[in-house]
Amino acid sequence: MSKRDYYEILGVTKGASADEIKKAYRKVAMQYHPDRNPGDKTAEEKFKEAAEAYEVLSDADKKAQYDRYGHAGVSGNGRGGSGMNMEDIFSQFGDIFGDDLFGSFFGGGQRRGGGQRSRGIRGSNLRVKIRLTYEEIARGVTKNIKVKKYVSCNTCGGSGAKDKGSVQTCGTCGGSGQVRKVQNTFLGQMQTVTTCPSCNGEGTTVTAKCSNCKGEGRIYGEETVTIDIPAGVQESMQMNVSGRGNAGERGGMPGDLIVLIEEEPHKELHREGLNVAYELHLSFTDAVFGTQIEVPTIDGRAKIKIPPGTQSGKIFRLKGKGFPAVNFYQKGDQLIQVNVWTPQHLSAEEKALLEKLSHSPNFKPQPEKGSKNFFDKIKEMFS
Ligand SMILES: [Zn+2]
Ligand SMILES: [Zn+2]
Repeated sequence: MSKRDYYEILGVTKGASADEIKKAYRKVAMQYHPDRNPGDKTAEEKFKEAAEAYEVLSDADKKAQYDRYGHAGVSGNGRGGSGMNMEDIFSQFGDIFGDDLFGSFFGGGQRRGGGQRSRGIRGSNLRVKIRLTYEEIARGVTKNIKVKKYVSCNTCGGSGAKDKGSVQTCGTCGGSGQVRKVQNTFLGQMQTVTTCPSCNGEGTTVTAKCSNCKGEGRIYGEETVTIDIPAGVQESMQMNVSGRGNAGERGGMPGDLIVLIEEEPHKELHREGLNVAYELHLSFTDAVFGTQIEVPTIDGRAKIKIPPGTQSGKIFRLKGKGFPAVNFYQKGDQLIQVNVWTPQHLSAEEKALLEKLSHSPNFKPQPEKGSKNFFDKIKEMFS
């Protein structure tokens, strides 16, 4: 199924401000909230879709990626944008709905094992570079890369606690992760909600720490991450693989893995956007008599026909032999520029033969009338 445009999902225009995006998301999320549409799968899908759209459009970096490259710019692993689960979505609500608003609308978000309460500390994002050959870029490629990073501790399952009994509900906030304060101000009584200082909003405290991770819930290790790279990516493009960065502390959400694309220079071909340029050195006699010749392309070798009398500087175009675009059905071309090789060393015999021909009228340049001049050709090459 093709993915819908994130702006369309939230019903905002591309120029919408952060505040407008937030408002729009709040509206859509309330409309399709599972509590209001029990058992309705379509509503649940729409709810998730909106959360994913908001996750991208509310993050300046991800939004810029999306605006530039569409879904491919922010997906990374083929399964789409974010792979957010319900818990991720509800944890996003804290800053969207404000505390009381959310509670009063939906009869309390806390029972979702999260709500406003955030478990642990979110892991940080990680950046890796991936170097790709032209061939890999042309076809798209799946890469398995080893990433050194914090991974969840297996001994304690990420909780950081020695055993179940050493995780206790925080006494200060009663497990909600938040404390309410009533303040008298000149506007009257105001109730404010802040993160619980005793548990840092986690709702629990650990009395005895796991010995393997020393209570952190994660250890430094290595993970092999599979990354599906779509065809047509370009140097310095970034892809976001959600949730594959550093593991969070004490069960906190993992960070993202940000993949930076690097192009491996090709020995013979040069990329120019979607097009590929190749310089063909042709012998003088091949240019005169014409020939069939094999040229490299990003997709194997291709045969081209050189007609007799081909001039140096002539450009042949192999349609559709360039790079595909990431987000739409378009392919570049391969442009082959002919460079006729002038011999630089001659034997006495060769010299004598050529001297015989040097005054022949056919060897005198006779540019065709109406042939494209040099500047038109340059323009054509980059069009
Ligand atoms: Zn542990
Ligand atoms: Zn607390």
